[in-house]
Amino acid sequence: MMTQPLFNRMALIGVGLIGSSIARAARAQGVVRSIVATARSGPTRARVAELGIADRVVDTNAAAVDGADLVILCIPVGQCGAVAAEIAPRLAPGAIISDVGSVKAAVVKDVAPHLPAHVHFVPAHPVAGTENSGPDAGFPELFIDRWCILTPPEGTDPAATDKLATFWSAIGANVETMTPEHHDLVLAITSHLPHLIAYTIVGTADELGQVTRSEVLKFSAGGFRDFTRIAASDPTMWRDIFLANRDAVLEMLGTFGEDLSKLTRAIRRGDGDTLFELFTRTRAIRRGIVQIGQDSDAPDFGRPHQKKLPPLPRPYMADGE
Ligand code: NAP
Repeated sequence: MMTQPLFNRMALIGVGLIGSSIARAARAQGVVRSIVATARSGPTRARVAELGIADRVVDTNAAAVDGADLVILCIPVGQCGAVAAEIAPRLAPGAIISDVGSVKAAVVKDVAPHLPAHVHFVPAHPVAGTENSGPDAGFPELFIDRWCILTPPEGTDPAATDKLATFWSAIGANVETMTPEHHDLVLAITSHLPHLIAYTIVGTADELGQVTRSEVLKFSAGGFRDFTRIAASDPTMWRDIFLANRDAVLEMLGTFGEDLSKLTRAIRRGDGDTLFELFTRTRAIRRGIVQIGQDSDAPDFGRPHQKKLPPLPRPYMADGE
C-alpha cells in the first residue's frame, strides 16, 4: 500500500478483464486517489457501477478523461484511434495517456496523431490475461509477477515513462521498455502465433464432423483441451490483434511453416533423431519458463482435483483385505 497516491485521478476507458483488474489492483494498492470509468455499452457501465470498482462511472469517453492525470485505454486495439480522437480535446495538460493493447506499433500509429502536445503518451502491454472477458472477469492479482512492456515513442519524456513504470510495479508487474516494433515481433511468436495455432486446431477438429466430435471432447485431455482454452479467447480482441500485427505474424508464420515442413519430412522418413532432438530442446524451454516463475510445474491445472478416486475393484486389493 502506498502512503501517497501516484496519480490523483485515473480514467479507465473500457472495463473488461484488463480494465477491471487494473481498477481492483490500483485501489488495493492505493496508487490512485480516485477512479473514473466508462465502457461502450450501458449494461457494462451499469455492471461496473454495481461492482463498485470505480468511484464514478460516466457515460462517455470524453467525460471520463476530464481532470484525469492518468488515462488508460483498456479497449480492443482496433478502437484506440477513434477513441483517442474522441478524448483528445478534453485531456488535461501533463496527463499520461496509456493503453494495454496487445499490439503496439499499430496503436502508436493510430493514437499519437490525435494527441495534443501537452500530454505524455506511454503505450503499455501487460503480458497477463485469461480467456475470460468483461468486468466480472478481472481480479487484483492478475499482474503479479507478469511482465508489463512499455513502448514509449521517440521523444517521450523519460519522467512520464518512469512514473508509469512505477504504477505497474506497484500493482505487481515487472516492467520492461522496448520499441513498439520489437514488442510486436516478440509477441508474434510468444502469443499471437500460439493463438492462431490453437484457433486452427480447434477449428479443424470441429470440421471433422459429428461422428468424431464426441470423441474429440471425451479424449480432450490428450493435449486438445489446452488448445480449447486458448481458442476460447475473445473473438473481437484477437481479430484486431491479427489485423494490427499482420506483418510480424506473417513473418513468424513463414518460419513456422518451414519448421513444420522439416518435422513432416522427419516423420515421413522415420527420422527419430530429428524428432528427439527437437523435443529435448523444447522440454528445456518449458523448464526454463517454470524456473523463472512464469508458470507452475503443478500437474495439469484443468483437471478436477477435488474428485476422489473411486474405491479399487476387488481383484486389485492386497491379499487378506
Ligand atoms: P474485454 O474484457 O472484452 O473488455 C473490453 C472493454 O472495452 C469493455 O468494457 C468494452 O465495453 C470496452 N470498449 C470497447 N470498445 C469501446 C469504445 N469504443 N469505447 C469505450 N469502451 C469500449 O477486453 P480485455 O480482455 O480487457 O482487453 C482489452 C485490451 O487489453 C485489448 O486491447 C487487448 O488486446 C488487451 N489485452 C488483453 C489481454 C487478455 O488476456 N484479455 C491481455 C493483455 C492485453 P462494452 O463491454 O460495453 O463493449
